[in-house]
Amino acid sequence: MLRITELRLPLNHAEGELRPAVVQRLGIQDADLKSFHVFRRGYDARKKTNIILSYTIDCELATEALESALLARFQGDHQIRVTPDTSYKFVGHAPAGFPQDKRPVVIGFGPCGIFAALILAQMGLRPIVLERGKQVRERTKDTWGLWRKQQLNPESNVQFGEGGAGTFSDGKLYSQISDPRHLTRKVLTEFVKAGAPEEILFVSKPHIGTFRLVSMVEKIREDIEALGGEIRFQHHVTDVLIEGEGDQRHVRGVVAEFLGQRIELRTDHVVLALGHSARDTFTMLHGRGVYMEAKPFSIGYRIEHPQSIIDRARFGPNAGHEILGAADYKLVHHASNGRAVYSFCMCPGGTVVAATSEPNRVVTNGMSQYSRNERNANAGIVVAISPQDYRQDGQTEGPVSPLDGMAFQRIWESRAYELGGGGYIAPGSLVGDFVKRQRSSDFGSVMPSYKPGVNLVDLAEPGRGSLPDYCLDAIREALPAFEKQIKGFSMPDAVLTGVETRTSSPLRITRGRDYQSLNVQGLYPAGEGAGYAGGIMSAGVDGIEVAEAVGASMLGVPPVA
Ligand code: FAD
Repeated sequence: MLRITELRLPLNHAEGELRPAVVQRLGIQDADLKSFHVFRRGYDARKKTNIILSYTIDCELATEALESALLARFQGDHQIRVTPDTSYKFVGHAPAGFPQDKRPVVIGFGPCGIFAALILAQMGLRPIVLERGKQVRERTKDTWGLWRKQQLNPESNVQFGEGGAGTFSDGKLYSQISDPRHLTRKVLTEFVKAGAPEEILFVSKPHIGTFRLVSMVEKIREDIEALGGEIRFQHHVTDVLIEGEGDQRHVRGVVAEFLGQRIELRTDHVVLALGHSARDTFTMLHGRGVYMEAKPFSIGYRIEHPQSIIDRARFGPNAGHEILGAADYKLVHHASNGRAVYSFCMCPGGTVVAATSEPNRVVTNGMSQYSRNERNANAGIVVAISPQDYRQDGQTEGPVSPLDGMAFQRIWESRAYELGGGGYIAPGSLVGDFVKRQRSSDFGSVMPSYKPGVNLVDLAEPGRGSLPDYCLDAIREALPAFEKQIKGFSMPDAVLTGVETRTSSPLRITRGRDYQSLNVQGLYPAGEGAGYAGGIMSAGVDGIEVAEAVGASMLGVPPVA
């Protein structure tokens, strides 16, 4: 097979124009092209009036001799190459009779834990997954309980439960990770097998939306179970059993609480796929001496605009085009106080959601459905902060405790709850008032979508500010600057809702090249909570890599080089 990249055609080209374009690009006769399929379709919207589709096409030629001749002819042309083999290759498979007494344990069933468990199951290693939350449909009811009835279940919410944090999301499936082994393809292929639309395999910015994710997660659970794996819900891991001293420490099991009962499982391989909100578990692991370190993350607000403004700014007269869908954006501003302000987890045509996992705290995030047809566009507008910013001891030198970032997040989440006036109402402000440093009194043309509701306040009230002053200053400067990239971005009626604190993990549970904890063998920190992923796709890929490391250790085969 031959692959052509960057084959460019106008946005409104007819379907029948693709084949002649391929034939022309290769300089062959139509009969020489046996078949072709679209591997990827992206677009170039730099010129709004002339948006171009850019295709990657895999071509099967009439004869192998012709393929060789074309490869020779296009030798210096980096846009025409042999199609790479993107099929997934396992490190090994458990032979018949493989001992089952110490099955690998995966803690957490978010994207990382799901893919770690799936790969282990596909290798025949029958993983046991311990997930603190409930099955996805019960979890959905609890999540709605917060949004509609202002009742939080700290064990079953947007962060905790089957599917992990990515379940109530926009379901964006792209990532900027380097992927020489095509592991993102394995993730996408498994999602399609589980019911995702086929188009996620070829559109450049695939997304799924919340409703579909729910049934896909259930389907993958069934696949894992059919292969002999087990997923135990409402199993909250409260301890890890570690034996040995110094460099010789090794995990030997885990303790979980299930409906008030203590459950102990013996195992030599534990994947920590905890997500970034497992604060009690981070504290427990720190107490057990598992090596971890403070890491940078970002905090800020969610911003909402009418989606139509974003569509017009990005696509001009082509706004609303079926192929383009609802427009997204990605913005960065380097503020004069040295802070980077950037847009985070943009959700076209979606809603802002209450995403706390702890009582009496307010956290925002965004989600959407596959159709992305809600009225508002939303995104985090966040400021990068470093461990030196959030240290709690007032010193200016010396190491920061790995748990300080969590304490820092809690301060701002509690303050947001207080500013909102309780009942998980979020504090908010119109952009125009925020920039002018004044309290908003009424909503204008943009109604916020956050449930249970938004209370308009002065987000920068002296002494009771909703974020540190350096963040407020940086965001105040960034909003008008973003207007230069997206006309209407700093419209006075746009709404800011606070606070966005869970952008990534506040700590890293550091691992070595063998994917194991630096000081506890057999413990495999993984995914977003351990600081090795940010987003559904990268968490899934990290889960695969960690499962490969566990599999290689259990089967006694060489790890992936
Ligand atoms: P998580 O998904 O957080 O999963 C961790 C799991 O571990 C949880 O289910 C939790 O219950 C469980 N757990 C924690 N502690 C324990 C314990 N002690 N015992 C047992 N179980 C435990 N990313 C995107 O790429 N695209 C998006 O569109 C997108 N939108 C998002 C929208 C929202 C509202 C949120 C909250 C996040 C969104 N994200 C999105 C981020 C994405 O969801 C995360 O990056 C991803 O889920 C991380 O995967 P993970 O498996 O590492 O952790």
